[in-house]
Amino acid sequence: AGTTGSRLTDGLNPEQREAVEYRGPALLIVAGAGSGKTRVLTHRIASLIESREAWPSQILAITFTNKAAAEMRERVQALLGESASGMWISTFHSACVRILRREAESIGLSSTFTIYDSADQRTILKRIIKELDADTMGFTPASAQAKISKLKNELADVETHARNANMNDPQEVMFLEIFRQYTRRLRAASALDFDDLIAETVYLFRAFPKVAALYQRRFRHILVDEYQDTNHAQYSLIHELTRPVPREIVDELDAHGILVRGMTDGSGAIPGASLTVVGDSDQSIYAFRGADIRNISEFERDFPGAKVVLLEQNYRSTQNILSAANAVISNNFDRKEKKLWTADGDGDKIVGYTGYTAHDEAQFIADEIESLHRAGVAYRDIAVFYRTNAQTRALEEIFVRSALPYRVVGGTKFYERAEIKDAMAYLIAVANPVDELALRRILNTPKRGIGPATETALASFAEQNELSFRQAMRAADGLGLGPKVTGAISALANVLDEAAAMLVPSAEGLEAGTNAGAAKVSDVLVFLVERSGLLDALRNSRDPQDETRAENVEELVAQTRDFDRENPGATLVDFLTQVSLVAAADELDDASGTVSLMTLHTAKGLEYHAVFLTGIEEGLLPHQMSASEPGGPAEERRLFYVGITRARKRLYLSLAMSRAQFGEVAVAMPSRYLQEIPEGLIDWRQSPGMATSRGGTQPRALNARRGEPGGAWGTRDRDLERFSVTRSDKPKTEWANRVTGTVRDNGDLTLAPGDRIRHTDFGEGKVTQVTGEGTKRIAHVSFDTAGQKKLLIKIAPIEKL
Ligand code: ATP
Ligand code: MG
Repeated sequence: AGTTGSRLTDGLNPEQREAVEYRGPALLIVAGAGSGKTRVLTHRIASLIESREAWPSQILAITFTNKAAAEMRERVQALLGESASGMWISTFHSACVRILRREAESIGLSSTFTIYDSADQRTILKRIIKELDADTMGFTPASAQAKISKLKNELADVETHARNANMNDPQEVMFLEIFRQYTRRLRAASALDFDDLIAETVYLFRAFPKVAALYQRRFRHILVDEYQDTNHAQYSLIHELTRPVPREIVDELDAHGILVRGMTDGSGAIPGASLTVVGDSDQSIYAFRGADIRNISEFERDFPGAKVVLLEQNYRSTQNILSAANAVISNNFDRKEKKLWTADGDGDKIVGYTGYTAHDEAQFIADEIESLHRAGVAYRDIAVFYRTNAQTRALEEIFVRSALPYRVVGGTKFYERAEIKDAMAYLIAVANPVDELALRRILNTPKRGIGPATETALASFAEQNELSFRQAMRAADGLGLGPKVTGAISALANVLDEAAAMLVPSAEGLEAGTNAGAAKVSDVLVFLVERSGLLDALRNSRDPQDETRAENVEELVAQTRDFDRENPGATLVDFLTQVSLVAAADELDDASGTVSLMTLHTAKGLEYHAVFLTGIEEGLLPHQMSASEPGGPAEERRLFYVGITRARKRLYLSLAMSRAQFGEVAVAMPSRYLQEIPEGLIDWRQSPGMATSRGGTQPRALNARRGEPGGAWGTRDRDLERFSVTRSDKPKTEWANRVTGTVRDNGDLTLAPGDRIRHTDFGEGKVTQVTGEGTKRIAHVSFDTAGQKKLLIKIAPIEKL
């Protein structure tokens, strides 16, 4: 130690420097958003390598997304000025896949195992639920999936769960059976779901200490970013990796010629790796996936003598933005008080905006983005966040109309499209021949006259004879299926066999243990989509959408070409792994000049010059689903806090007075969290659409009732959360009206087709239709000059003529 180059600590504050230079078994860095946690991790890695305290190969850094990993790798290399290959900088999932592919055989898994995504899981669960008639007991694929995921994140497998389950409860007995079947099928298909990737690695290490020792010996420095969002399984994985290697195993490794010299301590054991974790419990937003903040608060108990470094100064945002963030998060109880501050000054005020509809809100955002852009802010430095994916519709409509370059990060992903899943299923069926799910997907895609009855017959034949589905396909002629069907099945089997043959390396390749001589991934894909007839079926279809689908398949071919070029010598399984692990945030492309649209969850760890937080309404943020979750509103508040703290210079908070949700238009109420931001920090802009109807009322009274004792809004949210779950903590309409700046309530205004009305913006028009009931009645109006509009009668700025 002590040789750390000053270059690596220049420009760091004293606490950051301490965190970079500290050497010891365990280091915890806790700090608020934007205080340089990720930056400290990066500098720490560079410092370890530059001072020759560690080889790059001895470092394992865990980030939250593959994109964050790529960024960290680039920064470390930039700091070192040399390539630092051999470092493992990856997500939990990627690291575990690497380990499992190498060690698969120990746990009876094929190294070409398939990784099932959420849609695959649901397909399987749907079949199981149907077979067990479990839907009659209220099970759905989604509910079973959530429950299984929760158990796996707690490292509870079927046997563990069977011991804990209440066998007198038919519901639990049924669930256990679903879980058992699900596990059995994934096993049979040599497939793992995302939660398995972590859990199986933990099981592997626990069952095979010698395998674990290889990794415990290798990784001397383990660093974890966003530690507040680790769940129990991930926490356990880190524990396994940082265990010391006992003397007996060291001796054995030595005996096998695996070099351990110089690593052992006085007792002949290899000491545990040094562990650095960074996190912020105020940003924990994955409790619904089993993340446990206690992993942070109990770090000092788990690692006695751990060094704790607190970072306080924020380098990302203006003070106004930080003050808003501080004010909001201080409403969560049971947290360590910390206040973000910056030396950079107040900056601009936060801009608030209330649109009449979601489209109005979107129009405001589009206009603001244009004016920011004219003022010199690059599109790529602007982001729009929302709570639910459904909110993108209005935003996209307006952005397209305004010709704004934008990109939805993690929306409907390319790899989730049906035709892409079809083409991928062909590749998977070749790579992992026992994958029944993939085979059944392509059995009659494109249509080749193999019906569901045949599929079921093959599946049960396989089941009865303990064959794989693929083996059952080969034996199909003995099933009395008729010559046409049998012919189609064996034609498909032949295509798969031929493709598999293309993938075998040459004799020289086999000899050298490389992939030399094997066909490229792109060649195999082209062969499969052509010979199977998949591409022709799409090209020759009369469905106009199939043209786009064919183009998508061609795009996939283009992607495999890129993959082949960028990864010489890589295998088909490498390609499939890469595709499986593409996480939402990985589609970000900073180089492109586009505005990014993403959910608040995806926004974690990122920063932008200007941030638009949209739909700050009750029901969206906090989301209505959170109401039933213990700690739900507190977690939603952290999500809001994460959103606010992404902004460097400009923050916009917007909402709409009415919003279409679940196919209905409803009155939207301002989020309770808005009230928590001191009035003086927000500059509320009027909705242009409401200029006259609001009679100039500004939402200046937003905080008038703040602190008023006893009133519902004088009571802090935390008290509501703590003392009462049943008490309504919906904001009062009156307060809502002040925020939105309108006192309009048309109440029981009755409109009928033929009536003429006047709207403050759209002028006069004729009602053509009235739909909906009660407060959700909607008037369909044909305006004399403004065209057709739908208006929520209760709040629209209209009068009957
Ligand atoms: P989050 O909690 O949102 O993940 P973080 O604590 O990881 O935030 P970073 O992303 O590391 O924070 O840093 C926030 C911003 O501040 C980055 O742009 C980073 O480069 C900058 N920064 C951090 N420390 C310093 C410093 N000492 N001097 C100048 N800039 C800094
Ligand atoms: Mg960070």
